[in-house]
Amino acid sequence: MKKFIADGMCGGLARWLRLIGYDTLYFNTSRKIELIRTAEKENRIILTKDKKLVSKHPKFVNYIEGENTFSQFKEVVKKFDLEIKEENLFKICSICNTHLEKIEKEKVKNLVPEYVYNNKENFSICKKCDRIYWEGDHCSYIRKKLKTL
Ligand SMILES: [Zn+2]
Repeated sequence: MKKFIADGMCGGLARWLRLIGYDTLYFNTSRKIELIRTAEKENRIILTKDKKLVSKHPKFVNYIEGENTFSQFKEVVKKFDLEIKEENLFKICSICNTHLEKIEKEKVKNLVPEYVYNNKENFSICKKCDRIYWEGDHCSYIRKKLKTL
């Protein structure tokens, strides 16, 4: 599976790629050398709006045309022929790019709102940023948006 690094103005794009299961780092830094080093070391494609960076390293730096998050996402899905599969959705923390782990319902009792606890059965946790995830309304919104691709 392809891996990415989103740069600067492509933070929203990084979140969408994580939602469909693609390992995507987000670097908002002016030190472009860090980006390049990480991309080389971890075999990642850089997604950026920095044309200078693209012309210096055309092999693995990809220029993003789109001005808004979803059009950028569409562009990357098409260009790199990314797969959108139900079993890959919502497997990576959209905030910090860590693989989510299942967690028993009883363990999240004091960590999620009461109505969520009472109405949902399946929960996962990001062990890095401690965020708890469950299948909520935002998931059906995301699925609907993905169908428009
Ligand atoms: Zn996280």
